[in-house]
Parts: sequence; C-alpha cells; structure tokens
Amino acid sequence: MPSPDKPLIVITGAGSGIGAATARAFAGLGHPLLLLARRVDRLEALGLPSALARAVDVTDAKALAAAVEEAEAIFGPADAIVNNAGVMLLGEVAEQPAEEWDRMLDVNVRGLLNGVRTVLPGMIGRGRGTIVNVGSVAGRKGYPNHTVYVGTKFAVHAMSENLRAEVAGHGVRVTTIAPGVVETELLSHTTDEAIKADYQAYKESTDALTPEDVAAAIQYAYEAPQRVCIREIVLAATAQDS
Ligand code: NDP
Repeated sequence: MPSPDKPLIVITGAGSGIGAATARAFAGLGHPLLLLARRVDRLEALGLPSALARAVDVTDAKALAAAVEEAEAIFGPADAIVNNAGVMLLGEVAEQPAEEWDRMLDVNVRGLLNGVRTVLPGMIGRGRGTIVNVGSVAGRKGYPNHTVYVGTKFAVHAMSENLRAEVAGHGVRVTTIAPGVVETELLSHTTDEAIKADYQAYKESTDALTPEDVAAAIQYAYEAPQRVCIREIVLAATAQDS
C-alpha cells in the first residue's frame, strides 16, 4: 500500500518491459507513481495503487511537464525519475529508412533529455533527487545492426556522466543502468525481419534477463542513502557472451 512518507517517482515507458517491472517494484515499496507511455491502457492495466497514468509521448516536452505538474500537485515533488522509454529499430545504415534513425534519436535522446529537464530544476531547488537513465550495454560497445541505436545509447551514457558532475553540488544523483539482453517487447518494433529473427535466436540462446532483474537494480540504486550515488550498473545474463 502507498505510504504517506514515500515520495513520488516518475517512470517513462512504464507500460511494458523494464518500465512496468520498475513500476511494480516501487509500488511495492509504497511510492506514489506517475506512469507515462503513449498507450495509457497499458499503464492502467498494471492496476497499481496511487499511480497516475497519463498518455504522454516523451518527445512532447510540454505534455511531459504538464503530467509531472499534475502528479506533483497530488503527491508532492518528484524525488526520482526513471527515464526508461526507448525504442530499438535495428538495421544497417545503408538500408535503414532515415525515419527510423529519427525515431530512435528523438525518443532515446531528446525524450530522455525532456524527462531530465522536467524534474531537474525542482530537484536542484530542494537539494535532492535521483535521475535514473536507462542506457544499455550498447551504450558502452557496438553490436551488428545497432549503429544508430548504439549512437543513442552512447549519448545517454555520455550525457549522464556529464550531468552527474553538473548537479553533484546540488545533491542530485544521476545513475545509468546498462542492461544486456532483456526479454521485453523492445525487439518487436524492428522492421527488418531477417535481423529480427537473428536477434530473437540470440536472445533465446542467452537466457536473457527478466525485466524484474533490471527493476531490482534500479531499486537498489534508488534505495542507497542519498549521499551515495550508484553511478552505473551494468548487468547482463551470465550466458550473454557479448
Ligand atoms: P519495451 O518495448 O517493452 O518498453 C518500452 C516502453 O517505452 C513502452 O512502455 C513504450 O510504451 C514506451 N515508449 C516507446 N516510445 C515512447 C515514446 N515516444 N513516449 C513515451 N513512451 C514511449 O522495451 P524495454 O522494456 O526493453 O525498454 C526499456 C528501456 O530499456 C529502453 O530504453 C531500452 O532501450 C532499454 N534497454 C532494453 C534492453 C532489452 O534487451 N530489452 C537492453 C538494454 C536497454 P508505448 O509504446 O505505449 O509508448
């Protein structure tokens, strides 16, 4: 049940996969939640207590800010945001439609920045807060057919490193979570069927992480004392060899 002394946590991309597991984890700790994704029915289907669900595309900074303002009016200031919304459209640069590059850059990079800026001034004002950015092992090294996706995730890692230094003096923590392969809907949006089939076969061979494995890492980082910043957690299935 929600606890009156637990602060608001904002989660983007909370309708499935890692975001949904993270929402369940923090609801279990008694936090009120603002859950964001484009498909509000998926957010509502989680059935979590003290959770405001809003259909927000993270590329729409105004809609994101309005939803956070609405949630803060009900539950008080956001103590953390989990910038998790993301898309992975695998492809070769010579073949892939440029619209797919744009979508990954817009959601994974600009959308994440929108999430950061929506909560950051308030956190700086209060002298505390936690920003969790979901990167990837693909934010640390390259993989076949991942060129643009890797670019977006390297950007997440690089910006998080720099932001951490920028806000350290204000008591705000920045954590990067870098999972390997996780069993979610992420791959389903790739349009190249051959690449999708190859990746699916690889996923099955690795005994992929579950969304709950990643949610547990996010929870661990958030629950550390405020003076401790878990800067980065890289986690992958033991069987993942890349
Ligand atoms: P899912 O596809 O299951 O979840 C992605 C979530 O993001 C959905 O809730 C989706 O909801 C939401 N989303 C997508 N686009 C937007 C948008 N424009 N605005 C708001 N929400 C959006 O995948 P995962 O759980 O795997 O992905 C979560 C994060 O984890 C991503 O950043 C991904 O890059 C990262 N990651 C995943 C790995 C994996 O192997 N699965 C490995 C490493 C990192 P809706 O469509 O309703 O908007």
